Order: sequence, then structure tokens, then C-alpha cells
Amino acid sequence: MVVGYEGVSLEEGTGVVHMAPAFGEEDYEVCKANSLAFFQPVDSNGKFTSEVSEFKGLFVKDADPLIIRYLKERNLLVKSERYKHNYPFCWRCGSPLLYYAWPTWFVKTTARKEKIIELNSSIAWFPEHIREGRFGDFLREMVDWALSRNRYWGTPLPVWVCSNCGEIEVIGSVQELLQKSVKKPERLELHRPYVDEFVLRCNKCGGEMRREPVVIDVWYDSGAATFARYHYPFENREQFENNFPVDFITEGVDQTRGWFYSLHVLGSLLFDQMAFKSCLVIGLVLNEQGEKMSKSKKNYDDPWTLIEKYGADALRWQLLGTTPWDVVRFGERGVADAKRRFFGILENCVTFFLTYAELDGFDPALHTVEFEKTSTLDKWLLSKLQLLIKGVRQALDVYEFNAAVELIEKFVVDDLSQWYIRRSRRRFWKEEKDLDKWAAYTTLYHTLLELSKIIAPLAPFSAEVMYQELALKQKMPESVHLNSYPQYNPELVFEKELEEIEDVRNVVEVIRAARNEGGVKTRQPLLVAKVYCQDRVWKSVEKNYEVVVDEVNVKKVERLPNLSEYRVYDLIPNKAAIGKRFKVKSVVLIEKANQEKQRIAQEIAEKGYALVELDGEKERVTEEEFRVVLKPKEGFAHAERSGIHVFLDLRTTPELEEEGLVRDFVRRVQIGRKELNLEFDQKIKLRVWFEDERLSKAVLKHEEYVKSETLASEVAFDPSVVQQVEPVDLDGSKVWIKIEINPL
Ligand SMILES: [Zn+2]
Ligand SMILES: [Zn+2]
Repeated sequence: MVVGYEGVSLEEGTGVVHMAPAFGEEDYEVCKANSLAFFQPVDSNGKFTSEVSEFKGLFVKDADPLIIRYLKERNLLVKSERYKHNYPFCWRCGSPLLYYAWPTWFVKTTARKEKIIELNSSIAWFPEHIREGRFGDFLREMVDWALSRNRYWGTPLPVWVCSNCGEIEVIGSVQELLQKSVKKPERLELHRPYVDEFVLRCNKCGGEMRREPVVIDVWYDSGAATFARYHYPFENREQFENNFPVDFITEGVDQTRGWFYSLHVLGSLLFDQMAFKSCLVIGLVLNEQGEKMSKSKKNYDDPWTLIEKYGADALRWQLLGTTPWDVVRFGERGVADAKRRFFGILENCVTFFLTYAELDGFDPALHTVEFEKTSTLDKWLLSKLQLLIKGVRQALDVYEFNAAVELIEKFVVDDLSQWYIRRSRRRFWKEEKDLDKWAAYTTLYHTLLELSKIIAPLAPFSAEVMYQELALKQKMPESVHLNSYPQYNPELVFEKELEEIEDVRNVVEVIRAARNEGGVKTRQPLLVAKVYCQDRVWKSVEKNYEVVVDEVNVKKVERLPNLSEYRVYDLIPNKAAIGKRFKVKSVVLIEKANQEKQRIAQEIAEKGYALVELDGEKERVTEEEFRVVLKPKEGFAHAERSGIHVFLDLRTTPELEEEGLVRDFVRRVQIGRKELNLEFDQKIKLRVWFEDERLSKAVLKHEEYVKSETLASEVAFDPSVVQQVEPVDLDGSKVWIKIEINPL
């Protein structure tokens, strides 16, 4: 008999396939649809039954050559050949598997498919596309849930069947089981083998009812989490009802068909509700090379080793710092980087505060200054802190931990460490304990304490250490984790001060960008930076003029009323396009254009075309032939950001170069101090020698500056240091620096 089926193609083989309803899902369906008999000629050990008398008792794979011989002997074999095709193997032990039709208990999920799909629509998925995508697709293609497993270990299926009439009894509780059973095991134990000893009496025929010898799919157990955790419905009704559906679950993307599905289906079927309100779907974690981590290949960095080495928070921070639903590359490099990039800097900030707070005896209870009375810089930081709280809360509300981590890092590194503390150092260093000093302490203390709370859920250990260090005998909750999460307080956003310092930082950033553009290192002082900006921005610059000049290492910062004087047009000929159109006259055209560069460029920029006279004809040229670019005036570097233009004069003078060298020298000494682990206020004596006379002259000339920057009481020129220390390189020549510690 041959039946038609669209699943068979002509591209492979003859277009006719044999059907074995007991060994393939499609075969089974097609036979069923065509009312063909179902028969099972193989037993559960994979051996032929008596239905195949010729090969009875043989393992099916071992029977292959015998079957071929059998057919050959009877002249029934057309051809025998080896054929390569896919075959299922056991993932654990690698032995070949048989598809096998087996009687199984199902949950008829398809009967409630619409409801299950509908309930999914109100779950908040992160990322959102999972709802209609991966999860939605899986629900739409739903098949009935094959619930039973032919295993020994697991939750026994609570179904008893009458061995006489086939009546079924489903048991719903231990109590019911005890009531209805006529034979019980000696100990009340719901697992196999004990549970199989319970025998029930059939209500219909009085026969013996025995338990179906199967266990339940483990995914049922995971899906039961929402009610099983309360032992509901047997007790804790109120607790269950208060907590169902749960607010939030999270797991890997591979759980779409696993936990997410089993939770959702049980919620829908049992309670007509979704089981969870929101779900964060995590991407897979790969190793740093982007490969799947494998225990057998050992191709990953052991997390415990990393935790020992860098701390649990650094590991956590690295993972949090990536988009949760993207694939994460995880390894030592990233963890070490998180430690260095963030925690190292945060610790420095705390240490800075604690060191000076102790020296000055700062007591928050006594010295706290009202925020309103703090400086512009303080108010700027306090405002930034509020904006941080707002931003982090928003990010956490939608589970974008990476956005929160990014905001916190930016705040700690750029705002707190690189700007606030650096620009406030002298306020902490100075002798007099005035309002300005206490204002700085108040601001830094408040900021660090709030920070410990902000990072508490993301870096719980570091947050606690920080919080305990900052406790300073204050009356506070015992642990950072007993505090409420910081609330955004718009009253602590000082708009005017915030804007002013942001303006200053923007201008500084653009000047630095111009310096970068010009390829001049930061330590080389320059003469002038010309800034084109709005009135408000310039007012901010004027109010903070010393700061700007100091930050960018430029002698003068001037305002530029308009751009035209410092910008010139340039024309770049497109030789291919010109050659195509003007052939032999191309060279002449390019030459002509070069002579009238400014006019042509400006006209193309403004009108889109320009006219060039060529052999008495006016030729129209456009961007097609000449690309127009704006260049800064000769000798200047230009940068622009959000409407702020800077033209930086790159010319140096011998004096400026000298200053640059001295700054380089000071930096070398500071590196030396660091290498010796000197206290910040340790006075030193410098003994130096220079290969280049230019350098020794420069240092001599700026001796006072060198002394104050390096805390040296003396700078002695001493050729004998050449024998005592290794030279360092300074602008291409050798310098010998010996740092001696003054006896106290
Ligand atoms: Zn196996
Ligand atoms: Zn019965």
C-alpha cells in the first residue's frame, strides 16, 4: 500500500519511503491518518519480538546483516549500499538510540492554548522581543506536555489504575492516599519503591489498583515553584495569594522551553494567571575567546580563582557591566579590568577622604555645612550625585544593570575622582579649618556615603566595607544593606552651579581635543586657546578662568566672536571624476581651481556649485569634482563639540618649551615618589644630573616651581648620582634623579 504525504520529497532517494509507525513521529501520524495498523515488533530492550519470528530476540542493529542476507537468499534484494545520514546518539554515553513509540501520560496543554498565549501578553519581558519572539513562537507551536518518564528517580506520577477494569484514580494528597489505600508500605515515603506498595481498591469493580510505574517530568517540579515553595494548597493560602504571580524571575535564554514554559503553563492551567509578572532573560556566558565553556575542555577561567584574586564584587561588576541579554564573554581580563577601572579608583577616593578627615578631625555631627552654603564645585557634585541616583534607579527599574554600572563608573571616575577631588585637593590640604574646608568635607562625605548605598545591590561587599569605614561613629543603620535605596531629590539639584561647571568641563574637554588633534602633549604649555561659544558658556569660563587655564595648560583662553577668521576652506579634487569629464584639460582645471581655492570652495559650500573659466568657457563644478573641507587656520588645531569651537595656537616659544621640559621633569620626580611609596606630605631632597645642558638650565630657572611641586627642600646638581642611579629618558636625553628623604 502506498499513501501520499507531503513530507516526502523527490530530491532524496526514490520519493517513496517505508513507514514504521512505532519508530517515528511522522510515520506514526501518517499511519494513524490513513487508518493503518500500529504494530511494535521491537521490545524495550531493542530486540525483535516474536512478531518477527526469523530474528526474534536479536538486537535490531545486530540483525541488519542477517536481514540483508535473508532478502538476498530470497531474491528480494535490488541493491545494498552504505548510506550516510543523521542518526540520534545518547549525549552522555554516545550509544546509538532508537526512536520508539511508548505509551505516555500527557497534559493536554493544547486544550488551553489560547488562554496560555493570552496570559503571556501581559508579562513584562526583558528584552521585550522574547514575548512575541522566542517564547511566543514556542507557545504558538505548542504540543501536549509529555508528563511521564520511564525512570526510577523523580516525583512519582500519582495515578493508580485498576488492573481489572482500567479505572483511573488520581490522588491529590497524602491524606487522600492514606484514606483510600488498602495496602500501605511500612514507612510513609512518597518515593519509589515505597510508594509503589500502596494499593487502592477500585470503586467500580473492587479490583486492585496499582500505581502507574512512572515518574513526572522534572520540569513539572520547577514549574511548581510558585506554589510548592509555600506547600500550597495544603497550607499558607494567604502567603501564596499575596505572592502569586511573583514579581520577577530571571534565567538563561535556554529556559524558554524549560523553566519559563513550565512556570507559565502551570500558572495558566492551575490559576488562570501568569506565574510571573516580569522576566529577565540572560544571554549565554562564553569564555573570553567567545567559545562555549566546557568542563571537559577546561577552556575557561575558574570563577573561584578569580574571586580569590580580585574579589567577588569585581567578578560581579564585570558581569553586570554587559547587556544582560547579550552573549557575555567572561574571563580574567574582564574581571581584572573591572577591579582596576572602577574599584581601584573608588578605593582611592575613600582613602583620600579618610586620610584627611582623620588629620583634620572631621566629625559629621559637628562640622557638617548646609548644602546651600557650599561652593559652586560642591553644589555641582551634589547635583551630579542626584542625577546619578535618578539615572541608576531608572536603569535598575528596567533591569539594565549595565546602564547603571556605566553611570556609576562615569560618576566615580570622571566626576568624583578626576574632577571634584582633583580640583578640591588644596581645600583639604590647606591649614585653616574654615567654612570652605568643612564644605568640601561635607560634600565628599555625603557623596561617598550615598555612593555606598547606590552600589550596595551591585557590589555588596565593597559597599559594606565603604559604609563601615565611613560610619565615623555616626548613628546609622548597622549595615549598608539595612538602608533604604537613595531617592532622587530634585531639591538637591543646583541648576545654576551644575550648568556652570558643566560648561567649564565642556570647554576644557574641547581644548584638550584640539590639543590632541594638534598632536601636542599635555605637559607642553601653549600660548592661547580661542573659544567660540554661547554667552552663557563664556560667562562660566570667565568665572572659572584660572581653573580652565590650569586644566588645559594654556597661558591664555580668549573668546572668539566669529569663526570665519580661523577657518579656511580647502578643495580636494576628485581626480577620477574630473578626468572623466575634462579629459586632457583636467590638469589645467585643477591648477585653476587651486589658484581660486577660497572662492570656489566657499561657493560650492554655499550654493552647491562654482564657475571656473577654462579655455574661455565657464565650467560649472560641484562637490562631484571638488570635495570642500574646512580647515583651521595655519598653525592652529581645531576641535568642536556641542557648538563649542576651539582653535588652539600650536606655536611654541623657547620659554614655553623650557616650561614643558620642567613639567616633564617634575612628573618624573612624582613617579619616583610613587615608586618609593612616599607619604603625600613627605619632604624630600633631590640630587640630579642632566645629560642635556638645556634641561639643567631650565630646571635651575624654575627651581622654586620644582620644589613646590615635588615637596623638595633642595635641588642639588650632583654629577656623582650618575654612578648611583639608573638614568631616565626625558625628551630624548638622559636624566639621573636621586630622591633622598629628609631626616625629620
Ligand atoms: Zn547513554
Ligand atoms: Zn476496576
